[in-house]
Amino acid sequence: MKLYSASTIRDIEERHGFHLSKSLGQNFLTDKGIIDEIIEGADIKEDDLVIEIGPGIGVLTAEAAERAGKVVAVEIDKGLIPILNETLAQYDNVTVVNKDILKTDINALIAEYGAGTKGVKIIGNLPYYITTPIVMKILEDGVRADSIIIMMQKEVADRIRSKPGKKTYGALSVAVQYYCTAENLIDVPRTVFVPQPNVDSTVLKLNIRPERPVELIDEKIFFETVKGGFGQRRKTLSNALVGVCGMDKPTAAEILKTADIDPIRRAETLDLNEFARLANEVTKWKNSKK
Ligand code: SAM
Repeated sequence: MKLYSASTIRDIEERHGFHLSKSLGQNFLTDKGIIDEIIEGADIKEDDLVIEIGPGIGVLTAEAAERAGKVVAVEIDKGLIPILNETLAQYDNVTVVNKDILKTDINALIAEYGAGTKGVKIIGNLPYYITTPIVMKILEDGVRADSIIIMMQKEVADRIRSKPGKKTYGALSVAVQYYCTAENLIDVPRTVFVPQPNVDSTVLKLNIRPERPVELIDEKIFFETVKGGFGQRRKTLSNALVGVCGMDKPTAAEILKTADIDPIRRAETLDLNEFARLANEVTKWKNSKK
């Protein structure tokens, strides 16, 4: 059965009494070229474990199962489970887990299903409504994956890859770039999905850095500083940082001076190194008060 077609999706809907859920971000892929790009981008080897987020009716899952040692697909929608059991029946190396990915310990999945495999690849055509939380969860949880190939709304992908000085540069860019490098694999038009969303997409490859690019005294304070700085992005840093870690304006100005950052600059002009320098000064100040 050719899974990636609008008529297959219609047929499955009818036979299983299934209704596509807008609120779960169910926009299914119907273009073999894009499916191939994602699978080839993931460079799946026969001794790899593939974790797929949101398999839908299994278009990517089936292709991954052809190549990988093992595939674990995490799908929140109970209604899709019997469908996946049918569409993936020929693959004995696939396990479908009916769970919310945001409440799933991915490292525990890797430990549970990874026996006999070497590499770990994460793939997925992510539901739009929770793209950012999913990406941040994978990174913050320190998931032991070699690469992450995920499709998302183009606008979010642009924000992830953005550089200082650009409008799209923000806390998400700094956070993701702290953990990994991001490569744009392909832009995807909205026309290849059923139903058609009202946004275009991009497939990104995230390569987790073997070592962090900056040295931080305290990671939590780094993220608080970044978030605080961008929280009021039109304000100068000496104003935007007020409240972060309990700083008042004179303290914020003093810390910026010590970090050698002009207090009238805005967060959107700071690169990763400058954010790290600033956050380390905030940490030193905070520790000095203890
Ligand atoms: N991979 C399929 C494809 O490309 O055709 C489906 C992609 S669709 C954009 C997103 C999928 O993620 C849907 O199957 C949806 O039910 C599932 N999903 C939504 N929220 C989820 C969550 N929190 N955890 C796991 N899966 C989720």
